[in-house]
Amino acid sequence: MQFDGSRPNAACEQYVVCEILIYAVKPSYLWQTKKDQDEILGQMIDSTVKLQGSVSVHETRNTSTGAQRTCLLCGSALGVSQEGLVDTRFGTPGSYEINRCVRCGLEQTFPLPSVAELKSLYEAHYNFGGERDTLYTRLRERFLFSFLNRVWTQIDGDISFYLCRGTGRLLDIGCNEGRGLRIYTGNGFQVEGLEINERAAAEARKPGFSVHTCLLGDLVAAAPYDVAVLSNVLEHSLDPRQMLQDVHRILVSGGQVWISCPNSESWLRRVFGRSWINWHVPFHISHFSAATLRELLENTGYAQIEVRQITPALWVAQSLIAYFFAAKGKKNRQLRNPFLTLFLMLLARFVLFPVLWLENKRGRGDCLLAVATKS
Ligand SMILES: [Zn+2]
Repeated sequence: MQFDGSRPNAACEQYVVCEILIYAVKPSYLWQTKKDQDEILGQMIDSTVKLQGSVSVHETRNTSTGAQRTCLLCGSALGVSQEGLVDTRFGTPGSYEINRCVRCGLEQTFPLPSVAELKSLYEAHYNFGGERDTLYTRLRERFLFSFLNRVWTQIDGDISFYLCRGTGRLLDIGCNEGRGLRIYTGNGFQVEGLEINERAAAEARKPGFSVHTCLLGDLVAAAPYDVAVLSNVLEHSLDPRQMLQDVHRILVSGGQVWISCPNSESWLRRVFGRSWINWHVPFHISHFSAATLRELLENTGYAQIEVRQITPALWVAQSLIAYFFAAKGKKNRQLRNPFLTLFLMLLARFVLFPVLWLENKRGRGDCLLAVATKS
């Protein structure tokens, strides 16, 4: 199974929207006020229009009326692998399916919303997380920087590479307000961030970090990086091949990319079906397996690829909450219930731990962790 190396149609346009998706859905967007979110989205849309000319991605890619179902990676035909998905987090309207490439096996969401539809979706449904100084956010902030969290991460799994110690230059792609920058610095790295959201970048700069606000493809670094982190970013991309090529360009020879993303072969996908939290339609575009992620990395110039799985208790809890509380067209407010979330996390970690351990060993963990070296 090899990717043929050809770029998908309208790759340039896809990449532009990929950038929008990546940065729009990252948590940094969430804590903005409604007004700020509108402003950010407006800037994103404007940038897209400038870069794309007058051609909309919706027109060049696929729609429910003008279907062009081809693989984002190899351009081959797609078959339906999952139907009837709805947004179990925010209740955004619409029904989606997952398509699997007949050649390389990559799965992807279909159909993709247009830029205008995305703007509308974010404005209407994606701002309940914009709260600041709520009980949930206060508890989360206190926990994230606590010793308890380091212990918990040791036990539960490290989806953001927060326990990795080392030296050299590290770029945190989509660094948001800089939580990771502080942690990676404490682990020994010389850290920079990339964050297109100006307000989040400004927040991240306050402790003195260098934070770039350009698109990844436009980044001109003072020196190449030893490590680039893509923590739950790649699955949002409409052109993951180009994203990894861009990362490859900014790495020093022998540098590493660290990737985390949901595992499309997760046991939780089979348990929860349409309620699996990591479908996250329409915001998750690509659904990688260990095999498709490995192939993509090999095909974009990486070697010494290590892929393993973990199953974060939080993700189990969120799938349970989606299963029991999601209702089509409605926000799932229980996903922001700290007590329910904590209860289910503890249940998953300390009662279901034999299952989590076994499924991870079988390669069916919920989260893929990949480390690859620029060759
Ligand atoms: Zn393919």
